[in-house]
This record gives sequence, C-alpha cells and structure tokens, in this order.
Amino acid sequence: MTVTTGTLYIVSAPSGAGKTSLVKALLDSEPHIRVSVSHTTRAMRPGETNGVNYHFVSREQFTAMLDHNDFLEHAQVFDNLYGTSQQWVEKTLAEGFDLILEIDWQGAQQVRKLMPQAKSIFILPPTQEALRHRLTNRGQDSSEIIERRMHDAVSEMSHYVEYDYLVINDDFAHALSDLKAIFRANKLRQEPQQQRHAGLLSELLV
Ligand code: GDP
Ligand code: ADP
Repeated sequence: MTVTTGTLYIVSAPSGAGKTSLVKALLDSEPHIRVSVSHTTRAMRPGETNGVNYHFVSREQFTAMLDHNDFLEHAQVFDNLYGTSQQWVEKTLAEGFDLILEIDWQGAQQVRKLMPQAKSIFILPPTQEALRHRLTNRGQDSSEIIERRMHDAVSEMSHYVEYDYLVINDDFAHALSDLKAIFRANKLRQEPQQQRHAGLLSELLV
C-alpha cells in the first residue's frame, strides 16, 4: 500500500504583516489543513488562549524541552523563545494532513534543511507605514514592543528571497486568494495526484 503523507508549508512574515489572519481565513475554507501550535516564552496577549494560539511556557520549561530534543526547530525572536513540536509535526504529516508552520526565517532555515520538500511562503506588507498601522491597530502590544517589531521587520523581510512563494498582503481578499492558489497548485502536483487518482489512471491506460 502506498502511504500518502501530507505536505509541510512554512509561512513567515514580519510581525503585523497579516500572517495569522490570512492563515486563519485559509483554514476557514480548507478545514483539512492543520496548523502547528508553537511553544513560546512570550507573555500571553489579551484574547489569546493557552493551547490554541500558543503553548505558553516558562523559560525553564522551554529549556527542559530543548534538552529533551522535543523541538523540530526553535529560535529566539524579539527576546522570546519559540519552538515547534517535532512529535506533533511528524504525527500529523504521517496521518496525511497538510500542515502549516507559522515560524520566523531562522526556523524556516532549520526546517528546510531537515525537510527539503517543505514549501515556503513569505508574506509582505504593501508598505512600512501599513505595517506600523496594523501593529498599532491590532492594539495588543505596547508602543515599545511595536517599535522593536518595526525595527526588526526590515531584517526579517530581507530573507524573502529564501522562500518559494511571495504574497503581498495589501488587499486582504486578494492575498487570501493568492494563498489559496498556492495550496491548490501544490495539491495538483504529479505525485499526490497519482496517489489520489491511482484507480482512474489504471482505468484510463488499458
Ligand atoms: P505576531 O507574529 O506579531 O503575532 O507575534 P508573535 O509573538 O506571535 O510571533 C513573533 C514571531 O515569532 C513571528 O515572526 C513568528 O513567525 C515567530 N514564531 C512563532 N512561533 C514560532 C516557532 O515555533 N518557531 C519559530 N522559529 N518562530 C516562531
Ligand atoms: P501577524 O500574524 O503577521 O503578526 P496579524 O494577522 O495579527 O499579523 O495582522 C496584524 C493586524 O493587521 C491585524 O489587526 C489584522 O486585522 C490586520 N490586517 C491583516 N491583513 C490586513 C490587510 N490586508 N489590510 C489591513 N489590515 C490587515
């Protein structure tokens, strides 16, 4: 029997570019796609839920997980530690689900090395001003944190060239449709299509 494993997608963007909103909207129309819930030492924002947005852990807990090799990748972003559970990713892909990792460029580099078949997408804001507005309007970070994120945005964005796909999130609906097109095109690749339509292909070729 042929085993069908899911496709791994990496989505990166500077903070505030709209990655979380776009991925959430994508999942509303594609419920079979899974998103990894990262572990982080960052403080919980108003409205966030432990286990849903992130697994919020202490530095000590994070370090203990690192010592146990629990992470597929991990990185420090804005003074906080973030990491992706290796076990959960392996299990979910083995079950055949497509899976999204919302991680920064450092994590993306680590995952590409381990899983070169992963598809990576970089989301860019239309302008730096728009990015600042979105961070401010989101209303979840202090002005110091927003300044820090704006400062780090340029170095994050300088890694765009390492990604397979670029999506500009100017008009939200347009960006969502671009994101959907990437997932749809990947579904139509030769190998997964052969597996999905093995019966049809053998019937057609007699
Ligand atoms: P937001 O992106 O503005 O909502 O802020 P967050 O604090 O949620 O995330 C900050 C950064 O950490 C983003 O660039 C994420 O891509 C990155 N990040 C989140 N989870 C992970 C992870 O598990 N691994 C890595 N390497 N980066 C992560
Ligand atoms: P990220 O996860 O990349 O930090 P979010 O998804 O939290 O970004 O988006 C940051 C803010 O920008 C949110 O308040 C969101 O509602 C808003 N936003 C996202 N996309 C757009 C867009 N195309 N136009 C205007 N605002 C947007």
